[in-house]
Amino acid sequence: VSRTAALVRTRKAVRALVAGWRGKGLTVGLVPTMGALHAGHAALVERAARECDRVVVSVFVNPLQFGPDEDYGRYPRALPADRKLVAAAGASAVYAPSVDEMYPQGFRTHVEVEGLSELYCGRYRPGHFRGVATIVMKLFNQVPADRAYFGEKDFQQVGILERMAEDLDVPTAIVRVPIVRESDGLAMSSRNAYLSPAERGAAPALRKALEAGAQAARKRGARPSTVSFAVKRALNGTGLKLQYASLADSATLEPARDLRGPRRLLVAAYLGKTRLIDNIPL
Ligand code: AMP
Repeated sequence: VSRTAALVRTRKAVRALVAGWRGKGLTVGLVPTMGALHAGHAALVERAARECDRVVVSVFVNPLQFGPDEDYGRYPRALPADRKLVAAAGASAVYAPSVDEMYPQGFRTHVEVEGLSELYCGRYRPGHFRGVATIVMKLFNQVPADRAYFGEKDFQQVGILERMAEDLDVPTAIVRVPIVRESDGLAMSSRNAYLSPAERGAAPALRKALEAGAQAARKRGARPSTVSFAVKRALNGTGLKLQYASLADSATLEPARDLRGPRRLLVAAYLGKTRLIDNIPL
């Protein structure tokens, strides 16, 4: 069966489309993305299509979540291919608004999830999670959905969005989807396209370092600091430059002081100019 996904460009059009479905009693899933889609995104769409009658995939490279020295300008854009990928995965529509449609003249309001946004990646990307929370809140309002799907690839992001949804009484349920990896263990990411062949060869060391951390966590007397150190040591000589390796409480995202209870090991590292993130449960 060859499916196509409708392309909508405006808030008005996406609202009308979704209202029509809801009027017929159909359930709606939302999958927010920045495009340049891969099998990780497809897993979100497939899950949404299993659980909802209609699925909208938003494709929007959100300028608000990029720092001034980050890759907004060169972030990969591939709308025609994205449309095909999401249609094959079961989506009904792609919502791809322009920057002016999303942030018209006079835009001034932001969503700040305090505390959690300054940890981990937030320490190195000031304003990033404010940009993420703001765009996702706008999408929740523009595309009234029963469920919205987010990947655990961005573990801090989904935790922050759950906090936001709880705090701001968002009626949409947030669903977490596990990380999809390449066969060599590298977490799929649109930014992997930046890697040179040599860098791509080195990149799986990040996942291996996480595994070294997880193994260190199983040792007697292990503490968060010994786990972080094991990650750092595992990256020695790989060409990856560790930015942070931190343990979080899996449920609250708060920094873990011990290894009792569900914990998530989060890392960010540079490979050349490319910043990679990954995480693993302990
Ligand atoms: P992005 O377009 O990279 O901002 O990601 C859009 C959504 O896809 C986010 O919820 C991501 O967490 C999710 N995602 C991206 N890569 C993966 C992956 N490898 N596995 C699972 N989810 C992913």
